[in-house]
Order: sequence, then structure tokens, then C-alpha cells
Amino acid sequence: MSTNPYTILILGGGIAGIASALALSKKLSPLIPDLKIVVYELRDVPSTSGGAINLTPVAHRHLDQLGVLEELRKMGPEGGVEVDEIEIYSSQTGKKMGTVDFAGKDGKGYGGYKGRRIMRICLQLAMMTAMAKLSNVEMVFGKKVVGGIETEKRITVYFEDGSFAKGDMALGCDGVHSATRTTLVDPDRASEYTGISFIQATMKSETIESPAHFKATAVNRSRHGALMTTYCDSDREDMFVAALAEVDEDRLNSEICRYQTGSLKTKNAAVKILREDIQNRFGNSTIPFIREITDKCWDWFLYPVYQLRPGGKWCTERVMLLGDAAHAMPPKDESAAYALDDAILFARVLSLYIHEPLTEAFRVYESLRRKTIDDAYKAASENWASNKESGRLANMFEEWLMPWNLLREKKKSASAWTFDAMAVEIPRPNRATSSR
Ligand SMILES: Cc1cc2nc3c(=O)[nH]c(=O)nc-3n(C[C@H](O)[C@H](O)[C@H](O)COP(=O)(O)OP(=O)(O)OC[C@H]3O[C@@H](n4cnc5c(N)ncnc54)[C@H](O)[C@@H]3O)c2cc1C
Repeated sequence: MSTNPYTILILGGGIAGIASALALSKKLSPLIPDLKIVVYELRDVPSTSGGAINLTPVAHRHLDQLGVLEELRKMGPEGGVEVDEIEIYSSQTGKKMGTVDFAGKDGKGYGGYKGRRIMRICLQLAMMTAMAKLSNVEMVFGKKVVGGIETEKRITVYFEDGSFAKGDMALGCDGVHSATRTTLVDPDRASEYTGISFIQATMKSETIESPAHFKATAVNRSRHGALMTTYCDSDREDMFVAALAEVDEDRLNSEICRYQTGSLKTKNAAVKILREDIQNRFGNSTIPFIREITDKCWDWFLYPVYQLRPGGKWCTERVMLLGDAAHAMPPKDESAAYALDDAILFARVLSLYIHEPLTEAFRVYESLRRKTIDDAYKAASENWASNKESGRLANMFEEWLMPWNLLREKKKSASAWTFDAMAVEIPRPNRATSSR
């Protein structure tokens, strides 16, 4: 070991960052008595933005392994609504075109885990509660990573406030726009706008008088994008609605984003633009519930979706990127699961290679992870294209093909959802010399 205590710096306190802290503490604490893990987060407090997130069966399994599912259950209704299936509707005809099934053949889920829709802030708080139980993990807010220097033995990370931290290793878990990636690992791999944005809002379910056409979560497709309608608490009191829609980059840069970050007056102007946009896209739906949302929901917010080019470099000698910082892809309702998989698999590899050079642990982790991530990129990109604007005929054709496409996806999903990062076979190191 090169320092005392052995210090791991985790840069970014989102899903990948906190999951890494949980997994590393669990796997390394028995091996390194003086282990210290510090999570540095840009924000001053946990963020309430971002709406609700869907957790697939595999994300569920990994949250359980990390002790987070227990905390979600303790939260009561705010711990999220269990989702048996995502129902897919045609917004134009009102017809149900199929489902994405999370309940499996026996109705009990995949390996006992179904889906879950939960507000991001609630997931974050549950993860932080699980982390607070660990004596060797600390989280520091208000620390924006701006760069770092790596030497043979240490990594020093610099923060915007002029402070710095030294450690044996750093994990870049700072999301799609990762400063760890752009300053330390792969400066040429900048985030890119996907051309598609989420126009999203949260609202009270009681606002809508029409009966809901879905049980927990629905995606309502139109040729102008898809509108997701979902509950996000088990009492079904709160709803999250989000349109996935093609939004021109110029428009994004000009009116909407500038307005959103301005004064109350300009914010109201942005909301008005977004509301009109939603009405144009979904206001003529044959589903009364959808029409009512477009009429009654006011609080829209635009959330542009960024991605990284596939491939790229993930590590240096002492820094590894995990989660979106390494492989942000178009969201397909399962990228959070990849961040959790990364964290668990990385911690397992590191614990097995703890007496080997760090570079060897990094190499083994990457060799186990690359193909899964490359395949996921391909699947996410194909799926993402269907959110773009299409002509009337092309849309009809897509809707006609939908049941077949869902069936095809089902087979792939079933194998993705039974994935268990705890069960991945890791090649054993072929020498046992301590070289750190
Ligand atoms: C609109 C949208 C909807 C999505 N919906 C889903 C879904 O339903 N299901 C799903 O599984 N996935 C979904 N995803 C993807 C999912 O949100 C991400 O894959 C997941 O959040 C990745 O976790 P992460 O920890 O790697 O990154 P993030 O969640 O982005 O966390 C990064 C953290 O690092 C912090 N940070 C950033 N820069 C710095 C810095 N310089 N210094 C210090 N800290 C920093 C951030 O504040 C943040 O806390 C969605 C993504 C988008 C964009």
C-alpha cells in the first residue's frame, strides 16, 4: 500500500459514485483495515431535479445487494411504485400495442425482482442512508472537480474552491459531462447532444379527472415523440410525465435553456413555450387522460439528453471512469443499472487484485466490461432513433411492427435482467506479490 490510510477518492456522488462507495467498502474493508473512501459531490445538497427514474429488475437486484432496497422499503410510498410492465400505447389511436414486461413468466419478476419507478431524489436519499452506516465512507458536498495530477504513487484532485485531495486511486463517477474524463483520462471525448430532449413535469394525480388508461407506467407513442405517464410513489398520488421529443439544437441553445436558467419572468416564458410544444405534439391524442395532461400541466422543464461516443478510454494508471462518465448512452430505461453493475464488478475485481498493480485490476475490469457496454450502446442507439419525428405513414408502419419488435426485445431483455454482477466469473491473478 502506498499511503496510510489507503484512500479512494470518488468524484461525483450520483448513482455510480455512491454505489461504488457501498460496493468498495463492503469488498475491501475486510482486506484493508485502514481503508478510507471519500465521495466528492459538486452540488451543495442532494438534487431534487431530474424527475423519476425507472429501475429494471437488474438494477433492483444490485440495489438489494448494496443494501439500498432495504432503505427504499423503509421509506414507505416514497420508496417508489413497483412496476410489472411498461404499457405501450398509440397516442393517436389509443390502442395498446404491447408491453415491456418486468414480471416474468411466473409474475414474480426476474430472479424475484420487478421494475420500480421512483423519484431520483428518493433513490439518492436511500443510497445515502445506506452509505451513512459505513464508518470508512464520507461524502463531501460542494466540491467541483476541475483537474488533477497523477504521479507514480498518488493522485491529487483539484477542486474549484482551491482545495485539493490526495488518494491512492480516483474513480470518475461525475456523469456524462465528467471533468475527470475531460481533464485526466480522455480529453477528446466530449459529451454530445443526442438531438432529443425530455420535456418533463411532476404533478398530482388527482389533477386529472379522466380515468388512467395504465396501471403504473405507460409510454404513449406519437409521430412527434413519446409521452411517458407514470406514477412514482406506491400510493399513486404523484405522477411524472415526460415527453421524449426531437428538439433542434439551435432552439435548445437559444430560447429554452436560456429562459430556464433566468429570472422568474423568463422561466415563465420557457414554461409557456414548452407547454405549447407539448400541446402541439400530444394535444390531439384520442386518450382523454393524455389530452387532460396537455391542458392542465403547467410546470414543464426541458432536459436535453447528452451522450458519449462509444469506445473511448476509461482509465489511466490511477483513475478509472465508471457509470455515465465512461459510457453515457441514450437512455433506454436501464443506464442506471449499468452504473450499478460497474460499481459492483469493479469492487469485486479490485478486491481480488488488491495485491497486484492497480493497472492490472483496471485491465481485468475493462476486459470483463467492454463487450456488455458496446452491445448496450448498439441497442440503446437503435431504440433511441424511434423517438425522432416521423411522417404519418412511417409512424403507422412503426406502430404496426411494434408487437413484433417488443417480442424481439423481450428475449434480449430477459437475459439482461437476469445479469448478476456478483456472479460474473473473474480470472484469478496469476501472481500474488504485493507491488503497490
Ligand atoms: C433524461 C434522462 C432520463 C433517464 N432515465 C433513466 C431511467 O428511467 N432509468 C435508467 O436506468 N436510467 C435513466 N437515465 C440514465 C441514468 O440517469 C444515468 O445512466 C445514471 O444517472 C448514471 O449515473 P452516474 O452516477 O454515472 O451519473 P449521474 O447520475 O449523472 O451522477 C453524476 C454525479 O456527479 C456530479 N458531478 C458532475 N460533475 C462533477 C464535478 N465536476 N465534480 C464533482 N461532482 C460532479 C453530479 O452532480 C452528479 O451527482 C436517464 C438519463 C437521462 C438524461
